[in-house]
Amino acid sequence: MDVSESHPLFPTYTKYPITLLKGEGSRVWDDQGKEYLDCMSGIAVCNLGHVPMKVKQRIQEQLEQLWHVSNLFHIPNQQKLAQMLADHSCMDHVFFCNSGAEANEAAIKCARRYQQRVLGNNRYEIITFEKSFHGRTMATLTATGQDKVKDGFFPLPAGFTYAPYNEIEGVKDKITDRTAAVLVELVQGEGGVYPANPGFVTELSALCQEHGLLLIIDEVQTGMGRTGKLFAYEHYGIEPDIITLAKGLASGFPIGAMMGKKKLRNAFSAGTHASTFGGAPLAAAAGLATLETILEERLYSRAEEMGEYALRRLSDQLCHYAVVRAIRGIGLLLGIECRVPVAPIIQELLQPGLLVLAAGANVIRFIPNLYITEEEIDQAVGILTAVLERY
Ligand code: PLP
Repeated sequence: MDVSESHPLFPTYTKYPITLLKGEGSRVWDDQGKEYLDCMSGIAVCNLGHVPMKVKQRIQEQLEQLWHVSNLFHIPNQQKLAQMLADHSCMDHVFFCNSGAEANEAAIKCARRYQQRVLGNNRYEIITFEKSFHGRTMATLTATGQDKVKDGFFPLPAGFTYAPYNEIEGVKDKITDRTAAVLVELVQGEGGVYPANPGFVTELSALCQEHGLLLIIDEVQTGMGRTGKLFAYEHYGIEPDIITLAKGLASGFPIGAMMGKKKLRNAFSAGTHASTFGGAPLAAAAGLATLETILEERLYSRAEEMGEYALRRLSDQLCHYAVVRAIRGIGLLLGIECRVPVAPIIQELLQPGLLVLAAGANVIRFIPNLYITEEEIDQAVGILTAVLERY
């Protein structure tokens, strides 16, 4: 593939040196016919594996009927998807968009508008966390607690402040009479696979209630069964006010969603927020088929079971290597923290046919699809062992 300086694509990605042309389940094949075991799932998107049959059929059916009409019309599958998401969460309302960043934008707008127009106060500040990742739009890169994503993009939108993750006193220090909401990932994915401590989340939820702050959980990476529950907040026994979804919601068809509690309904009256493509017929058909599959087959339980197996196997095999500092995660969102930068290791893993990705500089992220088998996990662990023992 031509990726020379004259190529029209902006060089925004450090590309793997392979071109993937075909996928099925946990496997993908490149343009040379070489097979790979995919343990990155298009960055936690292909939770049902590649080209899942039911989703494919629903997209094909929809392709025959109608592609796009605008959100000015009722879209049956969009309504069904919204209802099913509401029925299986503690949320009451859904706004559809196209990506995780847009879902978080919607959440930030919803929180501010609720505070300012429904409650009639002047709160706008959002507390987020160090090492967090919330997207690449101007508001969501500002919400992100990592300087590298902000470099060269100043001035940034006002109204964001950052607290240390898993430290409740640090959050208390950031609350002012301008604070509108707290935005948090329950496993920091891009930041290095750091799960939130249960005690911290319980206290955070109570703190938000005490101060009238909305608790927004970014479930863009953790949602749709990946952590062993349909949504990661279910592990913590809390009810957030808003959750955001994207990635695994439609198996690779672009869609995002911002879900909120009943009290937030009037934050968004007609004309206050919109998206041309959000939840359009094709995306809604793919999303509905994906959610139905996850629920019918209880794939979140499978993620829990296979996640425990993978964590045990990875720990047994890799923990004693000097290069491995820690292995952690929840469900099938796992990280292997190394004492060295992992980019060269990830490149080396391609040769024996394993696809994984980095989370920060030093963590290998292991995020296979939720149908992954014990045999496939064993194969991945075998390849990781053979490469990491040389470091
Ligand atoms: N939030 C989290 C937790 C993410 O992991 C990501 C993407 O990696 C995003 C938001 C942004 O999603 P998108 O790339 O779909 O805009």
